[in-house]
Amino acid sequence: MAGILDLVRKNDSYRMKTLNLQASENRVSPDVKEALSSDLASRYSHIMPDGNNSYGGAGYFEEIYEKTQSSIQDLYHVRYADARPVGGHIAVLAAIMSLVKKGDTIYSIGSEAGGYPGYQKEYIPDMLSLKTEKIPYLPEQQEIDYDSMALAVRKKKPDLIVLGQSAFVKPYDLTRISEIAEESGSKILYDGSHVMGLIAGGRFQPDASSRADVLVGSTHKSFFGPQGGLILTNNLDLIPKIEKNLTWMTMDNMHPNRVAALGVAAEEMLRHGKEYAALVEKNSHNLGKALDELKIPVRFKPWYSKSHQVLLSSSMEQDFVKFSNGMEESGIIVDRDGRIGTSEISRMGFSDMDRIADLISEAQAGNNVLKRVADLVSSLRIEFWR
Ligand SMILES: *Cc1c(COP(=O)(O)O)cnc(C)c1O
Repeated sequence: MAGILDLVRKNDSYRMKTLNLQASENRVSPDVKEALSSDLASRYSHIMPDGNNSYGGAGYFEEIYEKTQSSIQDLYHVRYADARPVGGHIAVLAAIMSLVKKGDTIYSIGSEAGGYPGYQKEYIPDMLSLKTEKIPYLPEQQEIDYDSMALAVRKKKPDLIVLGQSAFVKPYDLTRISEIAEESGSKILYDGSHVMGLIAGGRFQPDASSRADVLVGSTHKSFFGPQGGLILTNNLDLIPKIEKNLTWMTMDNMHPNRVAALGVAAEEMLRHGKEYAALVEKNSHNLGKALDELKIPVRFKPWYSKSHQVLLSSSMEQDFVKFSNGMEESGIIVDRDGRIGTSEISRMGFSDMDRIADLISEAQAGNNVLKRVADLVSSLRIEFWR
């Protein structure tokens, strides 16, 4: 039996030969990897509210931590950035605990409309004893039904409106939503997990941090970072609550190597984020169009997508697993939820979406394109870092 390290190496070489089109994933730069595997991987640092660190030897890390928070504040134009959450879900939990209390009502988008499963009744709402209602949604337009939402919010006055989806390709009308929320005194949490890299590059929903009370999200989907989460806000009154709900409530060690790697990724984003995010958006539209022309059923013709993913038609829903398995045989990696992501190929600076659509279509027709995929992937190099 192979040892773990052998398997790790096998996975590395396998993933270097395959084309990754998973919307939740991206590739990190060699600099980010270096920070991840540094000495910091086994360290602690806890800066307490009085400013003292309960661990020693953390001098360099304290500097890293401060610089990381500051780069992230610059990227998202916010007054407070918390880089400690070890995942998007942890960031969500701490943010919700800071915005509502037991018995309060939250509004979120149902999972049948691409909403994050964590917001469905049996997960976070049950865990935090919250009531939950669904935001009215028009799946065919990939849009909130704003008029119905306004009526429902006026009647029920939810304490918190949670926006953001795991499968979404269109930004919201946040001007309208903030008017609705203001009237009922509801707060807004924007979960940008999937689109944090696009927002950092000024695309998709650049008004998320200014319109929402709190913007949270993952650092590794469309963003350049290692796996982790962020909590961002301009409301400084929330800071003590966020502090309270992180350390010893939802997490302990913040994983200093992860924070350092995130800091490196944030610097890459500051240098290249605009160009990268524009390429992701263009690639998604072009991939949708090219797939449609090859009769792969994709949604939302003629605009297809304004984010980092293209959604397969729900007519294929029973076959999402079959589709994914078929692609995998040809070295094309997609998830089993009908999403095709463009973050990672954009990170490689690639823009020939006709070529990718052609490979997908050939694989779908049962022609194994493993060799052609490996040839394409071997010509790609990570970009947007130094
Ligand atoms: C992926 C996702 C999360 C969870 O993020 P992790 O970083 O995997 O913990 C939360 N919310 C949404 C909308 C997501 O898509």
